[in-house]
Amino acid sequence: MTEYDNIDFEVLGEDAPTANFSFKIIIIGDQNVGKSSITMRGTKNFFKEVYTPTIGFEFLTFNVRIKDQIIKLQIWDTCGQERYRSLISSFYRNSCLAIIVYSIDSQNSFESVDQWIDEIKSQTNPNVKIFLIGNKVDLEKERCVDKNIAEQIAKEHNLDFFMETSAKTGENAQKLFIVAAKILLDEYKRYQNESDRDKSSITLTTENREALENDNEKQRKSKCSC
Ligand code: GDP
Ligand code: MG
Repeated sequence: MTEYDNIDFEVLGEDAPTANFSFKIIIIGDQNVGKSSITMRGTKNFFKEVYTPTIGFEFLTFNVRIKDQIIKLQIWDTCGQERYRSLISSFYRNSCLAIIVYSIDSQNSFESVDQWIDEIKSQTNPNVKIFLIGNKVDLEKERCVDKNIAEQIAKEHNLDFFMETSAKTGENAQKLFIVAAKILLDEYKRYQNESDRDKSSITLTTENREALENDNEKQRKSKCSC
């Protein structure tokens, strides 16, 4: 039981009312670990055995209500560009969270995690949140990455969240994006508290900056009127 097991949320459709907050998330990791699959399963509850990657980047949106706030996650996936290793900077720009995926049946994909962490740190704001996800947990018989070791690595690198998932069975797939929305929302709220601003790790997108300015304006007005 963790603090993320009881989040009050509701998944909203594409035509959700205007979001209060919008956050950009990037999904990275070696090819074939299930990045596209976990994104599709987690946001659209859809899985197919053979996923044909297109070249370039694609992003999809996921609207969710957490408590009384509507959050739009803009999730960017790398379609077959992983082999170039260094992804283009526009992919990283303004991202608030990077989800690194490896596959529990692939030691190589796990060994790449360090390099992916370095890449994020060199390409983004050093405060971007980072999750580590071990996918394909349904392939228990073929497991070669120990869960405790992976969790330890996540701790050593000070990552923000670790979990195992399966795009095939759907295990923890939706939870991944709900936790992402919750962590980003909490961080944003911390940012709103001006005294905490320097400690905040949120990268504000233009929309968020506008929302924050509107909130501050409202707060100023309400302070003036009393
Ligand atoms: P990507 O290259 O990281 O985007 O990986 P894909 O999402 O294209 O998945 C690569 C292959 O792994 C596909 O054949 C998927 O069907 C399969 N796959 C993805 N996730 C899972 C999973 O959780 N379990 C199993 N058994 N297969 C998966
Ligand atoms: Mg893919």
